[in-house]
Amino acid sequence: MSPADSPRNAEVGRDGPGAAAATAVWDLLVVGAGPAGLAATIYAARAGLRTSVLERGVPGGQMATADWVENYPGFPEGVAGVELGLKMEEQARRFGVTFLTADAGATGLQLAGSDKTVAGQRARAVVVATGSRPRRLGLPGEDRLAGRGVSYCATCDGAFFRGKRVAVIGGGDSAVTEAAFLAKLAAKVFVVHRRDGFRAAPTLVERVRALGNVELRLGRVPVSIEGSGGVEALVLREAAGGEAGAREERLELDGVFIYVGTDPETGFLKGKVDLDRAGYVITDEEMRTSVPRVYAAGDVRVKGLRQVVTAVADGAVAAMTAEKDLAALAQG
Ligand code: NAP
Repeated sequence: MSPADSPRNAEVGRDGPGAAAATAVWDLLVVGAGPAGLAATIYAARAGLRTSVLERGVPGGQMATADWVENYPGFPEGVAGVELGLKMEEQARRFGVTFLTADAGATGLQLAGSDKTVAGQRARAVVVATGSRPRRLGLPGEDRLAGRGVSYCATCDGAFFRGKRVAVIGGGDSAVTEAAFLAKLAAKVFVVHRRDGFRAAPTLVERVRALGNVELRLGRVPVSIEGSGGVEALVLREAAGGEAGAREERLELDGVFIYVGTDPETGFLKGKVDLDRAGYVITDEEMRTSVPRVYAAGDVRVKGLRQVVTAVADGAVAAMTAEKDLAALAQG
C-alpha cells in the first residue's frame, strides 16, 4: 500500500485501544510527543500519511516543563511551555493524528525489516523523537530526598517553595531561566555553578543577576544534600584547590533544583540504531538513522543546538523524508 492509497487520517478514528486494535499498519509511527514528535505528526498527516504518535506520559515533552519559552517565533511576549505543547497537540489532532499511550521500550521492538513494530503497533516508518531526561548529579542525599525537596522541574514543584529558600544547581539556560521563575515565588534563590562563567545566554544571566532575592555561588561544586524528612541544607565546596583544603559552605535550604543538563532517552534503542558515545542517535541531514525508514528528530539526535525551534524543524524534515522514502518504496 503506497502513501497515496493508504487510508486518510479522517478514517483513523479516535484515540484509545479501539483505534489501536483497528490499525493494520501505520504509514508513520512517531515515538514521543514533544515538539519534534508533534511537528512530525502534523507534517506527516498533512501529507496524507496514516499517522500515530506513541507517548508514555503527557504530550509536550521537556518543553512542557519550561515555565516560559521566550524565543519561539510567533509569540512576541513568550509562551508557557505547557501551553505551547497543548497548542501543538491540538493542531496534530485537527489533522487526524491518533494518540496512543505506551512505553516504546516496554515490549518487543523491531526496527529492522519492512514492517516495524513498536509497543505492539506496526508501522512502515518510524520517527524516534523521545528527547532527553534531566541528568542526576549523583550527590549523597539526592535520590533519598527526590520529591521531598529535591526537584528537576521548577514549573512542576516551584509552588511548594513559596516564601522559602531554594538553590538551583547549574549554569546553562535551564538553570538560569528556572532560577528567574523561582525568584518570583521563593524568598531566596541561590544559583550554584561550578565555574565563574555561565554557559547560559548573557541576557538571561544579566536578568537573574539583577534580581534582589537571587545570590550567585560561582566556582562552587555541590557536595551533598542534607535532611531527614525533607531538604535541610546543601553543602558546597570551592571548585578551585581540589578536594583537600577547599573551603566548604553549608546553605540552609528547603529545596534544591537540579539543572545540570540532560541525557538522551535512547536506552531502548541500544543495538538497534547507531548511537554516538553519549547515546544520541546519529542521523544524516534528512533525519535518516542507520536503519532504513527509521528517523530521529529533536533532542534525541546528535546536533549542535537543542531548542524548541530546532526540534520542530527536525520533526518536519523527518516526516517529509519518510513520505519521500515511502513513495519511492511503493514505486519499487
Ligand atoms: P546545559 O546547557 O548542558 O547546561 C548544563 C549546566 O550544568 C552547565 O552549566 C554545566 O556546567 C552544569 N553541570 C553539568 N554537570 C555538572 C556537574 N556534575 N556538577 C555541576 N554542574 C554541572 O543544559 P540545559 O541548561 O539543561 O540546556 C539544555 C539545552 O536546552 C541547551 O541547548 C539549552 O540552550 C537549551 N535550553 C534553551 C532554553 C532557552 O533558550 N530559553 C531554555 C532551556 C534550555 P559547565 O557550564 O561547567 O559545563
